[in-house]
Amino acid sequence: MSLSLEQISVRQVRGVSALKEGELHAFGIFTVKDLLEYYPFRYEDYRLRSLQDVKDGDKITIQAKVMGVPVLQRYGRKSRLSCKMMAEEWMFTAIWFNRHFLKDQLTSGREIVLVGKWDQRRMQLTVSESEFPDQGAWRSGTVQPVYSVGGKITQTWMRKTMTQALEQYGEMIPEILPEELLRRYHLMPRKKAIATIHQPQDTGEGQQGRERMVYEELFLFQLKMQAFRALNRERMDGVVHTVDNKTMREFVRSLPFELTDAQKKVELEILQDMRSPHCMNRLLQGDVGSGKTVLAAIALYASVRSGYQGALMVPTEILAEQHTRSLQKLFEPFGITVGLLTGSVTGRKRKDLLASLQMGLTDIVVGTHALIQEDVFFRKLGVVVTDEQHRFGVNQRGILRRKGYNPDVLTMTATPIPRTLAITAFGDMDVSTLSERPKGRIPITTYWVKHNMLDRVLGFIAREVDQGRQAYLICPLIEESDKLDVQNAIDLHVQMQQAFPSYKVGLLHGRMTPAEKEEVMRAFYENEVQLLVSTTVVEVGVDVPNATLMVIMDADRFGLSQLHQLRGRVGRGEHASYCVLIADPKSEVGQERMNVMTETDDGFEVSRRDLDLRGPGDFFGTKQSGLPEFRLADMVSDFAVLEQARDDAARLVVDPAFWTSPAYGPLRDYLQQEQIFQGDLVD
Ligand code: ADP
Ligand code: MG
Repeated sequence: MSLSLEQISVRQVRGVSALKEGELHAFGIFTVKDLLEYYPFRYEDYRLRSLQDVKDGDKITIQAKVMGVPVLQRYGRKSRLSCKMMAEEWMFTAIWFNRHFLKDQLTSGREIVLVGKWDQRRMQLTVSESEFPDQGAWRSGTVQPVYSVGGKITQTWMRKTMTQALEQYGEMIPEILPEELLRRYHLMPRKKAIATIHQPQDTGEGQQGRERMVYEELFLFQLKMQAFRALNRERMDGVVHTVDNKTMREFVRSLPFELTDAQKKVELEILQDMRSPHCMNRLLQGDVGSGKTVLAAIALYASVRSGYQGALMVPTEILAEQHTRSLQKLFEPFGITVGLLTGSVTGRKRKDLLASLQMGLTDIVVGTHALIQEDVFFRKLGVVVTDEQHRFGVNQRGILRRKGYNPDVLTMTATPIPRTLAITAFGDMDVSTLSERPKGRIPITTYWVKHNMLDRVLGFIAREVDQGRQAYLICPLIEESDKLDVQNAIDLHVQMQQAFPSYKVGLLHGRMTPAEKEEVMRAFYENEVQLLVSTTVVEVGVDVPNATLMVIMDADRFGLSQLHQLRGRVGRGEHASYCVLIADPKSEVGQERMNVMTETDDGFEVSRRDLDLRGPGDFFGTKQSGLPEFRLADMVSDFAVLEQARDDAARLVVDPAFWTSPAYGPLRDYLQQEQIFQGDLVD
């Protein structure tokens, strides 16, 4: 058996020293496969152009002849070198900055290739790179890939190493897509596609290579989800919840409000899933404040009244505590017990709770991710609800199954994305949407102001607090530096204490202990603290109805979905609420994003406009929208391909030949790697 590319260390590529290997690790490159899949993010076009068809400002490569004598001017350590050139019948001037050493090489009549920016009016080229054909020019006439590099890895080294890797191992790149798909979409064979992405004849060809790999990425992604979905469909060993309508009505009637029509519809969808022998795998998306929590409560209640236990999983301890409190209130009249399990529940308390869960004495447990792992066992787990940001992957379901549970799963998210995108992006799940908010809510008014208005914003805070309300002040987000985030919050807290000596100002950030955080949140809930200075730890789910003002510093550092989440912390009670964004964004897109926030407080609309605003491959945006990420593909700009891939994958996995024919061997291997086994799931 020969080795496959993921088994061969990148060290085997000629030119990769131990030192370079170490540097490559920083880019996530360990094997030859990793290297070959390290794609360029754009191309540099060094093909020769004629001055006849270039436009002012173009970046061009031309071949020319040195005419006359170069002129060198020095300014201290800087220099400017200029020289007359001739290309075809055109005379022009080439200019170099800080390349004085070239002067002696510019001998009259010598051929030279110049890369630079063209100034049409002056007939002048500002040269960024140049080379002499008589020294064996290698770049001109080609299209070169541009990789993301750094440290000791230079662009030139990366290009050479990639060329070397393709030479040594290119032939070993395996095909993975079946013949029929390659033919249907006229896709390049895999071997050729990867080679072409790295070394295209022209950018168009590079694009074709990319198209092939984009389809493959999206197809494999969909295959995994569709296989999971199809196999899950066939299973009839999910929990069958037997709760009747009368019992459900008792609970719904006990609520302090009437369900909205949207909530009623989703309730039916959830109950239908829970009563069937199939495992529920449902995504509930709804805007902030649309009332998702009560649907979680309905699912948990249905499970308990069918004789099972339920778990509610949330991302933060603050949220876990808040949910525990509100569920206890709702379930008390029904004699349903709710426990809390987080990292700060330890010792005796933890031991008792675990025992109680295992014996089935605790009906519902709320907690963070650790809830379903490690030493936690249930007597009869019927449903798992996850709130905000958590998503059960296939692997986590596997863990639950191996523990002997096959619970229904409901995932709730407050990052609303357009429904068609959600259905396709989360193809393994059924999607429910809460499309309306409870009636009678007063819309939140959002203002965008510049930093020089800070004094007026402080006045606004004073006005709200003097009327008995409370306010949040969110600190700027420092990417990659949790420490600076915290320092910011501490500084701002001190400033606010000075600015508002008569109020109690609280401080909340990620470096505080859970007990400290809990104390601050408690004080804020009880209005002992009027102004809460915080990092984004309050982002998800926090519910303090008396808070009516949300001020966000340096709002342009946050993604739109995050701003919308933060804004959703106010507007939860009977009083009119406000959100103030403080930002001086420089770019047009940045300004437009602030405008979007002031123009709408509908999360679906915000996300739709967010998607419009960001360009293809806007990585940052994808991360924040909670969509899956790919090497080459972009869910938004490649959406049509994504849909196509979904249909293809869905068709394939229900074809019996897929599970037996050798033509699909590589695809089955892929699923196996991803831990989706037909046997495991079906038997
Ligand atoms: P989210 O969807 O953001 O999790 P919540 O479930 O926290 O929203 O609900 C926000 C607020 O709306 C809560 O105070 C909740 O009690 C209230 N609420 C939920 N459903 C309704 C309804 N049908 N009518 C009135 N208020 C409701
Ligand atoms: Mg919520």
